[in-house]
Amino acid sequence: MAGEERILIGRRLPYDLKFNTLGEDELRAFLFKLNDKIKIGISSCLLGNDVRYDGANKLDHDLRDTIGQFVEWVPVCSEVEAGLSVPREAMHLVGDPTTPRLVTIFTGVDHGDRMAEWAKKKLLHLEKAGICGFVFKARSPSCGLEDVKIYSRSGTKHRKGAGIFAKAFMDHFPSIPVEDEEGMRNAAIKENFFERMFVYHRWREFKTQDGTVEGLMRFHDSHKLLIMSHCIRHLRELGAIVNGTKRKRAVLFGRYEQVLVACMRFPGTVKKHTIVLQHLAGYFKKQLIHEDKKELQEVILRYHRGLVPLIIPVTLIRYYASKYDLPDLKQQYYLNPHPIELMLKNHV
Ligand code: SF4
Repeated sequence: MAGEERILIGRRLPYDLKFNTLGEDELRAFLFKLNDKIKIGISSCLLGNDVRYDGANKLDHDLRDTIGQFVEWVPVCSEVEAGLSVPREAMHLVGDPTTPRLVTIFTGVDHGDRMAEWAKKKLLHLEKAGICGFVFKARSPSCGLEDVKIYSRSGTKHRKGAGIFAKAFMDHFPSIPVEDEEGMRNAAIKENFFERMFVYHRWREFKTQDGTVEGLMRFHDSHKLLIMSHCIRHLRELGAIVNGTKRKRAVLFGRYEQVLVACMRFPGTVKKHTIVLQHLAGYFKKQLIHEDKKELQEVILRYHRGLVPLIIPVTLIRYYASKYDLPDLKQQYYLNPHPIELMLKNHV
């Protein structure tokens, strides 16, 4: 029910965190975003498709049924799309760990060239489709991101590395976030994956729809606090890049993207978020009465101690930013997470 008050730390606050109690504008924005689903690639077997070598699948319910409500999955099975049958002989990686071959385990047939040919075309197709991330099947010789065994030619020892398709994907799309289904079962890793993905999505939209130096400054300003929650050192570096606008535009944008992607790989921690929240609290020194300041500090402390999820102090600060009409804060993506991020920030 819109306007319903929620009781928190003994006081009644004029907002609610539940989706079904969002205000009208927020609800409209929420529904708009639901229709505007972001495309993410995924190993097809994780969606329940029977494409594995043994004719089975590796359905992940959370990915298909929960996350699938918010994103548009783009399923890819490299082995089947490259022309191999279901079922088929199991394969493993063999040879030089930097350029391994994909070889059938019992008959020794090398499918490396077939896969490389297919991947070349498929990656261009995914580029056109505009995917913003990829969730791979862990430890598969085609899809594994790391920890895939790569055997020596004699078969006596092995090293570890990425699967054939996953490696080709990461080489082609160095800025696109990737994760595997095992990582996605960890709340913090999942949250970081989505945050990286949304930042990448907005960055790409900015480059295609605006792409001006002034626009870059606006992009940077609206992401400052989000960037700060990942790495303060990178925030300073990005600030210096934006302010050093004498460089050629392509060089400037290339460098900014490189540092932004590197920054977002650092996970946001409770300590880093607490620093950002305290920084935000500083904006309200003049506006808030003593009692409200005390309450804000108590909410931040409760988050720091692991008693409430991040979305609680974030929502309270967003409420104050709106109430006291602080445009610098209202535009911050840190205070306006996408619905799926909102859901993810709800864990303690
Ligand atoms: Fe296909 Fe990759 Fe799943 Fe193997 S791990 S069945 S190649 S999608």
